[in-house]
Amino acid sequence: MTDPLRLYHDPHVLCHGTGAFHPEGPRRIAAVVEALEAGGFEMHRTPSPERTRDALSLVHDPAYVERVREAASLGPEEAGQPFTLFDSPDNPMSRSTFDVAQRTVGLLLAAVDDVMEGVARRAFVVTRPPGHHARAAAAMGFCFFNAVAVAARDAQQRYGAGRVLVADFDVHHGNGTQETFWEDGSVAYLSVHRFPFYPGTGGAGETGSGPGLGLTVNVPLGAGADDDVYAGAFEAGLDRLLGRFHPDLVLVSAGFDAHRVDPLGGMRLSGEGFARMTRALLAAAEAFACGRLVSVLEGGYDPAGTAEGALAHARALGGAENPRIDSALGRS
Ligand SMILES: [Zn+2]
Repeated sequence: MTDPLRLYHDPHVLCHGTGAFHPEGPRRIAAVVEALEAGGFEMHRTPSPERTRDALSLVHDPAYVERVREAASLGPEEAGQPFTLFDSPDNPMSRSTFDVAQRTVGLLLAAVDDVMEGVARRAFVVTRPPGHHARAAAAMGFCFFNAVAVAARDAQQRYGAGRVLVADFDVHHGNGTQETFWEDGSVAYLSVHRFPFYPGTGGAGETGSGPGLGLTVNVPLGAGADDDVYAGAFEAGLDRLLGRFHPDLVLVSAGFDAHRVDPLGGMRLSGEGFARMTRALLAAAEAFACGRLVSVLEGGYDPAGTAEGALAHARALGGAENPRIDSALGRS
């Protein structure tokens, strides 16, 4: 029996300390889990596969992985102590950071395992820290390890998933993910985001190179976009990419910092905007990837706004009525 949707969370991820005033704190995840459970969703806690540490090297320089481990081991254990800043002033770390960042990757690998092995059809991993800004050998933008990039590579190696789509609706451009697959003809990257904005990349002219030319699709938007503008731009970018790339697996960098109450994003989305983008991704997964879709939480810095977005995302992933699936499958 295949679950239509499985949600994954490990309470240990709350232990990555960033300081009382940092936007990427544990409260945002606690709020998401509380909203999902109140909405009737059950959270699965799954141990990281043993290969998790090795899998990091599919994307990250092993010396960088070791540098994160060593710096975290010297970090503060207690709240109230100054946090170690790692690579960037945006990236405070505590004693638990390496373990939590690695566990986040492990949760996503376990979710991909379940979807590829038919235990679940779709999955959503509720975790932190986010990952899409992390580069091969550098932390930035609250991110240490690029979980979605590692999962794409792992799915290719372990399950022979030939073509993987990484779709990213976080309000920030996923520079680390783009960079990882820039010249890759087997992993496509779609991002809708505010531009110009942190981290500075993601212009419409950035489209990949070599075998990857045309498989990076950036949809930059000015501040203030609402549901129609943001989700409409995302759908148009997705349709454009699907015209030339048919994925065997859909991975989603699900950030909710385009929500209208987010303190960082400057956009005006409601839950419906996130639901609409989710329905489009679900239709793509049904049309090309046997329904296989695995989503991981990225940003979202207002706890209530992030919870509203994540609940709308999970409900849409639950796959009730979805006219776009009907049209993708030729049902009218
Ligand atoms: Zn973000």
